[in-house]
Order: sequence, then C-alpha cells, then structure tokens
Amino acid sequence: MKQFNKNNECQNCECEECLQMLELFLDNEATEQQKNQVKLHIETCEHCKYCYEVDSQLKNRLKEQISNKKCPSEIIKCIQSKIKEMVLS
Ligand SMILES: [Zn+2]
Repeated sequence: MKQFNKNNECQNCECEECLQMLELFLDNEATEQQKNQVKLHIETCEHCKYCYEVDSQLKNRLKEQISNKKCPSEIIKCIQSKIKEMVLS
C-alpha cells in the first residue's frame, strides 16, 4: 500500500525527481530521455500519475484563461501553484 501524506506526496524516492521532470514535460521543455523517464515512472506510480493528470488539466485550463492576455511567467507559476494547492488539499 502506498502511503500519501497530507500534501499528497508519496514517499517514493524517485518521485521528487519525477515531479520536477513532470513540470518540464508539461511545459514541453523536457528532453526525450526525460519524457521517457516520466512516462515510465507514471506507469508505475499512482501518485505521480495523479499529479500528471491534475497538472495537465490545470495547464490546459490556465492556457485557455490566459490565451488572450499576456502574463509574466512568474505570475503564471504563482497561480499554478495556488490552484495546485487547492486541488491537492
Ligand atoms: Zn512517483
């Protein structure tokens, strides 16, 4: 059984690295090798798969909302992390 703590982070040692790559993956900034690693990992890790799904939905929603506005990337990142906190809590 996987143990999720209240921040929804699992204790899997690969996860932190994977979640960082996930960000790159969703921003289309990951290398082919990183993309493969992420794909492999989310196949075996429910927590990261969940994060992937949540994140990709968030990014799509965010893209729709900001597509007509020019937003500095720091603000977008800030909004993303706030939404993520709300979704995951
Ligand atoms: Zn994981």
